[in-house]
Amino acid sequence: MSAVLGKKVGKKSVDHVKISREFIADEPHIAFHDKRLWTLRTLRDGQANAIPEWEELRVLASGIKEHTLTHLADYLEEFERNATANGVTVHWAKDAAEHNRIVHEILATRNVDTLVKSKSMLTEECDMRPYLEARGITVVETDLGERIQQLDDEPPTHIVVPAVHKLATDVAEVFADTIGTDRNNADPHYLAEGMRQDTRPYFLKAGAGMTGANFAIAETGTVVTCTNEGNADLSGNVPPLYIASIGIEKIIPKMEHLGVFIRMLSRSALGSPITQYTSHFRGPRDGGESHYILVDNGRSERLAMDDFWYSLKCIRCGACMNTCPVYRRSGGLSYGGVYAGPIGAIINPTFDLKKYSALPFASTLNGSCTNVCPVKINIHEQIYKWRQIVVEQGEVSFVKKEAMKMAGKVLADPKRYRQWTAGTNKALAGLPRSFLYNPFNAWGKQRELPEPPKQTFHQWYAANRQAKEEDEQ
Ligand code: SF4
Repeated sequence: MSAVLGKKVGKKSVDHVKISREFIADEPHIAFHDKRLWTLRTLRDGQANAIPEWEELRVLASGIKEHTLTHLADYLEEFERNATANGVTVHWAKDAAEHNRIVHEILATRNVDTLVKSKSMLTEECDMRPYLEARGITVVETDLGERIQQLDDEPPTHIVVPAVHKLATDVAEVFADTIGTDRNNADPHYLAEGMRQDTRPYFLKAGAGMTGANFAIAETGTVVTCTNEGNADLSGNVPPLYIASIGIEKIIPKMEHLGVFIRMLSRSALGSPITQYTSHFRGPRDGGESHYILVDNGRSERLAMDDFWYSLKCIRCGACMNTCPVYRRSGGLSYGGVYAGPIGAIINPTFDLKKYSALPFASTLNGSCTNVCPVKINIHEQIYKWRQIVVEQGEVSFVKKEAMKMAGKVLADPKRYRQWTAGTNKALAGLPRSFLYNPFNAWGKQRELPEPPKQTFHQWYAANRQAKEEDEQ
């Protein structure tokens, strides 16, 4: 898995189908990926079903988020006041460039040359690591999955399990090439220990540590992180300088609201009742220093979008990805952006509609993403809305545009529709197999068209029911 699919895309429009093809061609990886994520989805169902008030929690979580987002300025200022009172320096970044500049300034003025960090999708969004590395600062990811991806020079492919597309043997290869473990030993315990031995010294050496934020509590000025490896605690507490990058949508009003989200986050993400570590960062340790950076980077604009502001409720649990049949079979790199899966299909176009115009079409619109979302985001409806916008703005291919026009004409006219379905069923039965299953038709890969029925429903109805109904009258 050495191909950096995400990076091949660059500034050009993402061709989701084309990039997926590479993943689909790799049978062992696609089967593993599909099964692994479906297991997470199944575990999630078990946990959700075991809590009778699950649906109430979803309603509550959605309500808290909607309330906060509609009073965001007030809660952000409250958070700033309380964090400042706790001894934290609070910064505001309007975009990724400003975020990176602030981080660099904090580090450079204190002569920090090594930064340890725990997983943060926001810093991925800001492309912070290359920015700092180009300025001579070593950045070490300390989350196991994120470190695997860093060592393999690949972006994360899932927001919770960044290296989920890799087999243990892939990790053994990556670690053998980069940190010198045994190439022939793919035992997960051995590999985790190898990474631990390699990374631990950085915690002691680093001049600064960084985390993202799962939640930021306005009432107390507290940042809360949820991890399973304890690496956020080490990153935030061992070095003398701590920096937290916080998306402005991560604010919740009160400490009492936290429990609602904590009860659902890990259950939705991994099907486990709680993460191993739920860490609260309130202020600098004795003799230390803490900085919080509140980052907008397009969030205010998204908040003003009538159809898409609900996406800001996202708590990044990844449940919509685990359940999505398209994501499970196309892999995270095929989305060509920081966020993959259904949440990526609605967030990425807000950054660059042209570049990500293919993503709203990477969905069956089955609604499963919406059903599992713990904060009740109407994901599939937003995907559908994006499709309409993409078409309105002329960002679809000529072939797709013409095909849709034709489909629209057929579906709008019952007579034409009946003729078309009857004709297509007959044609499909007689067409040579190579017409559909050929290298030029991505649709035909890995799936078979069902046997065409001998008659359409309308023909069957006319033959079996209509006559009877008329007799009975
Ligand atoms: S959209 Fe919902 S299900 Fe998907 S990651 Fe966000 S909170 Fe989780």
